[in-house]
Amino acid sequence: MTIRVAIAGARGKMGQEAVHTVMKNAEMELVAVLDYKDIGATLGDTDIFPDSYDVPVFTDMEEMHDAAEPHVLVDLTSPEAVYKHTKKALELNIRPVVGTTGFSDDELKELARLSEDTGVGCIIAPNFAVGAVLMMKFAEQAAKYLPDIEIIEMHHDQKLDAPSGTAMKTAHLISSHRQTHEQGHVHEKETLEGARGANYDGMRIHSVRLPGLVAHQQVLLGGEGQLLTIRHDSFNRGSFMSGVVLSIKTVIKTEKLIYGLEHIID
Ligand code: NAP
Repeated sequence: MTIRVAIAGARGKMGQEAVHTVMKNAEMELVAVLDYKDIGATLGDTDIFPDSYDVPVFTDMEEMHDAAEPHVLVDLTSPEAVYKHTKKALELNIRPVVGTTGFSDDELKELARLSEDTGVGCIIAPNFAVGAVLMMKFAEQAAKYLPDIEIIEMHHDQKLDAPSGTAMKTAHLISSHRQTHEQGHVHEKETLEGARGANYDGMRIHSVRLPGLVAHQQVLLGGEGQLLTIRHDSFNRGSFMSGVVLSIKTVIKTEKLIYGLEHIID
């Protein structure tokens, strides 16, 4: 069966890469693009894609559903749009594959409930890079032995949310192996607000935003006389595409919400 794919956010940095990836994949067909502004009737009408990309563009998801009948919606948009898109897609029986970050815990719970109730599968992956998923898994394992941890995530300066979805996901995974406790000196005091980063169960998360960066993260685990550093770097957006393809192929066979690629790689 050819998987009929729609992409929301196709003009963006991740979206463009995903468009080319799906167009080149023999097991998939890019049947539609969802945008929120009028960019022309097809992708080929934009100056971003070749004229031969005659993929129809829709600004309304219901209209897109009726006309193009996608099986899967890949969302690579913005934190403001993603919850609404994912909820609507589940209601329309379109399986969401979501790379956009910035969900709240309550939103994730609500989407998991909706996915379970409707039996429409959904994959939300804060990081599609396989190496980053391994970094999270290794950090989760190591936290059992070295529970004093700080996370430093580094991204390009156009990123809208902080901390990154990957940092939040890493902290969430680690917290299942680490007892909640405050780190650093009990009398520690910030002389400049924010100097110690965000506090997640006592772990600290620091967000760096600089031009030139793509997506990078270090997990620092300190112990008496030792430091374990687990680091992953995505140097370009190609690093995310094998995860996008794997998620599209997996979501088709899934009837509930999966949060994180670590649940679908061995
Ligand atoms: P980007 O370049 O800003 O692209 C986002 C695109 O979505 C823009 O073209 C934007 O259009 C469009 N958009 C915004 N609202 C929309 C809506 N309601 N409907 C359709 N399109 C809409 O950002 P990016 O770097 O590609 O990243 C996109 C998202 O993926 C971010 O949340 C980022 O954190 C996440 N990300 C995830 C991974 C992963 O592995 N999961 C990796 C990298 C990035 P305008 O610019 O015209 O508003």
